[in-house]
Amino acid sequence: MHAPWDFADFDDHELVHFVTDRQSGLRAIVAVHSTHLGPGAGGVRFWHYAAPGEALADALRLSRGMSFKNAMAGLPLGGGKAVILADEARTKTPDMLGAFGRAVEGLAGRYVTAEDVGMSVADLVEISRHTSFVAGLPVAEGAVGGDPGPHTSYGVYLGVRAAVRRKLGRDSLAGLHIAIQGAGSVAGGLARRAAADGARISLADIDRERAERLALEVGGSVVDPAEIMTLEADVLSPNALGAILTETSIAALEVPIVAGGANNQLATPRDGDRIHQRGVLYAPDYVINAGGIINVSTEFLKDGDHDTVRRRIEGIPGRLEQIWEESDSTGRNPAAVADTMAMRLIGR
Ligand code: NAD
Repeated sequence: MHAPWDFADFDDHELVHFVTDRQSGLRAIVAVHSTHLGPGAGGVRFWHYAAPGEALADALRLSRGMSFKNAMAGLPLGGGKAVILADEARTKTPDMLGAFGRAVEGLAGRYVTAEDVGMSVADLVEISRHTSFVAGLPVAEGAVGGDPGPHTSYGVYLGVRAAVRRKLGRDSLAGLHIAIQGAGSVAGGLARRAAADGARISLADIDRERAERLALEVGGSVVDPAEIMTLEADVLSPNALGAILTETSIAALEVPIVAGGANNQLATPRDGDRIHQRGVLYAPDYVINAGGIINVSTEFLKDGDHDTVRRRIEGIPGRLEQIWEESDSTGRNPAAVADTMAMRLIGR
């Protein structure tokens, strides 16, 4: 195995912590990319990796992504991420989670963990018995925190409106056609708000029933998952999967705007140039989808109430505007502009 600094994804990470707990069988990696703005915050992923090197690459890449996301959300948080290396049977025990919690506690607040792929709220509760550096725990009714989905979709909705204002010169979504990939938590919130504004909704989900339920609710229509990316519409909003913007899919787009909440939409950095060259206005994913992390961070840092969360989410369109402005004046694509802005914010 290579040293971490030989990895392509190594970007002067402040800390890479390898955890082995023989008794519980836990193997984990905690990567803290930057604590320039505050504790390195980001979820813990529970995943079976074909090779340990892939786990390290994931931790390095995702923790850097969290630095950028937290910085662009205006939060006093740095970026971190942890991965737990699951075995093939994906055995997860309370002992393992306990050992992970103790490892996080041992980092004394330089890393704050949260939920990610393969982890549940119940798992977080187990971890929180061993460390206080956990965000996204269940909250009492009415308190700040809890399910990030509705907050993410509020930010995505505001971001879609900002893109429509900029690209189409329209203040409202009324009469526009919005194509939505996914019918889950983020997609659902966007579809409801857009429909209430008078937009026409087309949506697709590999879970056909889920798509039909949402379409019925918002008076929209269901299209085949294979067709949503090439639909002629005013906005394409990806809210399902990552890596959907590729050389091929970008060439086939029939929309002037792509703005949605899915993480890591661009398959490669070059696809940021490709979508820009096609004249499609792109909303960088980690900027438009920051509503959830804003909510979770306000819960963890205890630095605000529901109004604070709403106000912070309402800052998303302004940040997108700033990115698009700079993109227009420099000719660089919005994704690249966002990365540069984030780097500046974390002092690099
Ligand atoms: P979700 O699980 O509620 O919904 C995702 C939906 O996408 C599911 O219904 C799934 O069936 C569907 N889907 C999967 N593959 C598909 C395909 N090929 N075509 C069409 N539909 C497909 O998830 P969510 O919480 O709504 O998150 C959606 C996206 O937003 C994810 O990429 C997630 O990483 C990202 N995101 C979510 C949040 C949040 O707060 N929930 C925050 C930031 C980013």
